[in-house]
Amino acid sequence: MSTIFAKIIRREVPADIVYEDDRVLVFKDINPRARVHLLIIPKKEIASMFEVKPEDKDLIAHMMLLLPQLAKAHGLEKGFKTQINTGEAGGQEVYHLHIHLLGN
Ligand code: AMP
Repeated sequence: MSTIFAKIIRREVPADIVYEDDRVLVFKDINPRARVHLLIIPKKEIASMFEVKPEDKDLIAHMMLLLPQLAKAHGLEKGFKTQINTGEAGGQEVYHLHIHLLGN
């Protein structure tokens, strides 16, 4: 089933996109919990960390390696927080894998 994030990838729903490459999209959270609150999502439709497969390891590494670069580009040179909510008990609302990047 297509999530709101898949619709953002397909440009069917608008978002404040701050970074894009062939594998990931990064946009501002619509309901920010910090001055900087970005969501890093894979273009591949992976529902959650529970569905990540060994063949996704380069994609996951790519997402992780983007974090410090994105943080610095948004003024978070002193540090940042990350969060991945997984499953119902993990507070996940949107079932398309995403990393929250928060700071300030
Ligand atoms: P999670 O609880 O980890 O699934 O978080 C989902 C996040 O997606 C929440 O922080 C929402 O504010 C955010 N969100 C939901 N819809 C949109 C949207 N259309 N554009 C940007 N962020 C969104």
